[in-house]
Amino acid sequence: MEYNCAKCERLVEYRTGIRPKKSLEGRSYRNLPVPDFGDPEAWLLIIGLAPGAHGANRTGRPFQGDGAGTLLYASLHDVGFCNTEKVTDFDPGIRLSGVLITNAVRCAPPENKPTPKEFNNCRTHLMETLTSPDISDILCIGKDAYDQLCKALGIKGLKFFHGLHQKFDMFRVHCSYHTSTYNQNTGRISKASLSPILHKIIEFRKGD
Ligand code: SF4
Repeated sequence: MEYNCAKCERLVEYRTGIRPKKSLEGRSYRNLPVPDFGDPEAWLLIIGLAPGAHGANRTGRPFQGDGAGTLLYASLHDVGFCNTEKVTDFDPGIRLSGVLITNAVRCAPPENKPTPKEFNNCRTHLMETLTSPDISDILCIGKDAYDQLCKALGIKGLKFFHGLHQKFDMFRVHCSYHTSTYNQNTGRISKASLSPILHKIIEFRKGD
């Protein structure tokens, strides 16, 4: 992808103006589109919604630096996809094995809400990632990621639900609730509800 992509005027203006929140004062922020992160030969692609202003937008890596990522990476570690259990910030030592992580929209949006036009603009980047030759499985973290994947792949009539596992064309598609701090605080998502999905994905893969 273009690391300096500026197709979405509103997002460029927003992301370049993001400043550290109080608890992160003095820390440097990347404030650029966030590229994919993980294993270049990944078979599992994980898609989130968009970088968090003080998480991925700051660290430059999807899901690194905020609560949503802490849960996701810890769950990935438990099943052997990640070499580090506690991912709370940027860490050059973090390695993923078999997994690549991306976002449906690669620039941090105000209030975590991209507009339909911004989703459309960024779909070209998602489609580039989908051409990675080794990907057999896709895990959508949240309904927005799933909706964008459906648009990219032309999937119709399959509604999002937590625990969806469906073969579609050349990919198996899987869905989980988003790992956002809000969903964690309301009890909608936890390690206990994400882990079975990851185990099932591994089982499908072993059956190939
Ligand atoms: S959201 Fe995507 S398309 Fe829009 S400016 Fe960022 S990288 Fe470019």
